[in-house]
Amino acid sequence: MRYSSLALLRGALTSHRHWQPAWTSPEPRPAYDVVIVGAGGHGLATAYYLAKNHGVTSVAVIERGWLGGGNTGRNTTVLRSNYLFRESARIYDFSLKLYEGLSRELNFNIMLSQRGHVMLAHSRHDLESMSRWVNTMHMHGIDAALLNREEVGARAPALDLSPRARLPVLGGFLQPRAGTARHDAVAWGYARAASRLGVDIIQECEVTGFVRNGAGVTGVETTRGRIGAERVAIAAAGHSSVLAQLAGFRLPVTSYALQAMVTEPLKPRLDTVVISPGTGVYVSQSDKGEMVIGGSLDLFASYAQRGSFAVMQSVIAGTLAMFPSFSRLRLMRQWAGIVDVVHDSSPIIGPTPIPGLYINCGWGTGGFKAIPAGGWTLAHVLATGRNHEFAEAFQLERFTSGRFVDEAAAAGIAH
Ligand SMILES: Cc1cc2nc3c(=O)[nH]c(=O)nc-3n(C[C@H](O)[C@H](O)[C@H](O)COP(=O)(O)OP(=O)(O)OC[C@H]3O[C@@H](n4cnc5c(N)ncnc54)[C@H](O)[C@@H]3O)c2cc1C
Repeated sequence: MRYSSLALLRGALTSHRHWQPAWTSPEPRPAYDVVIVGAGGHGLATAYYLAKNHGVTSVAVIERGWLGGGNTGRNTTVLRSNYLFRESARIYDFSLKLYEGLSRELNFNIMLSQRGHVMLAHSRHDLESMSRWVNTMHMHGIDAALLNREEVGARAPALDLSPRARLPVLGGFLQPRAGTARHDAVAWGYARAASRLGVDIIQECEVTGFVRNGAGVTGVETTRGRIGAERVAIAAAGHSSVLAQLAGFRLPVTSYALQAMVTEPLKPRLDTVVISPGTGVYVSQSDKGEMVIGGSLDLFASYAQRGSFAVMQSVIAGTLAMFPSFSRLRLMRQWAGIVDVVHDSSPIIGPTPIPGLYINCGWGTGGFKAIPAGGWTLAHVLATGRNHEFAEAFQLERFTSGRFVDEAAAAGIAH
């Protein structure tokens, strides 16, 4: 069924009895052409583009919890494509362009809000490097502008712009097309559209091992039995290296907790996303009015989706250094997700050393913005056997060849 104002009107006239579940919950079949491990945004988008772009509909997405319950449903929803290297700019801007048409494509309102993303400059050195960054983005054909202090203030009036500020603001750097989208809606929209095209989404089903035929993989062992597959893809973010170990290879991925928090809601106060490279803290305001706050990683390997008090305290201190008036707000919720960090802060999308087994991981702290492109490019290699051109630079073998795409500076927060 299509969602539309007419469907809403019909619902209003019939006590909303005609709505159907957004996706089906079938029993797993004995075998599929493709099995995807992980129903986060990347796994679900991969399933959708397999069916939509390549006509591959014998696909199961296997999720050990509930769909979107991993990092996709825990992130701070920032979308941007202000990366430094051509390879990254290309894939992240492709993703942003897909996001721009996604509500219409999926017939699901993902609440895209292109309110802009401002990175603050706290020193002359910051301004120098930002002007280089802006020029690089222009060379990639991506929107970007340098702002002076008054222009930053006009976009974020609650910022402390006084010379007494702990980190004085000299100006900033804006990507106007950047912004936010509703994270759950992205997962739900892809799930609904994939399910409509024939994909099976199987929740509460953990992958516990891989079925091997000699060197290759021919299926997965799960808590609901064995499921055969011609090709298997892992899209499990912070649990990628656990799954790789089950399959018998090592990944250069370290799993850390990354936390976020929201305050009580208030009236519209901040109409852009603001990040301070000095504190690593970034803030935006949700459509409900909450201040959504994120910061640096808990820098010790962990699988606990909580985050430590010390990092929470330093994130709040950084927030108050930027926005002193927020000290009156109550914090409502705090949580964490387990992110998959690699040395060059760039993703891995493509085949693994095990024939028949593919992977999409390494997005670390910044893979929400990449969900459409991550799904698109993984679907491409699964369907055709060839890497998508946008994923060519992001192969696992770069960790042996040394051809890194080192985006540590542009990845947004410290890792
Ligand atoms: C606090 C926080 C803030 C963030 N902020 C941003 C941001 O503002 N912008 C941005 O672009 N990115 C951000 N990110 C990063 C972004 O959330 C992730 O990169 C992205 O959501 C990863 O999506 P995914 O589909 O790969 O993983 P996930 O959404 O984590 O999905 C992986 C799924 O795999 C499942 N799984 C794991 N093991 C198994 C198994 N054995 N069997 C079956 N299923 C399994 C998990 O249950 C999970 O549902 C943030 C992350 C966090 C934690």
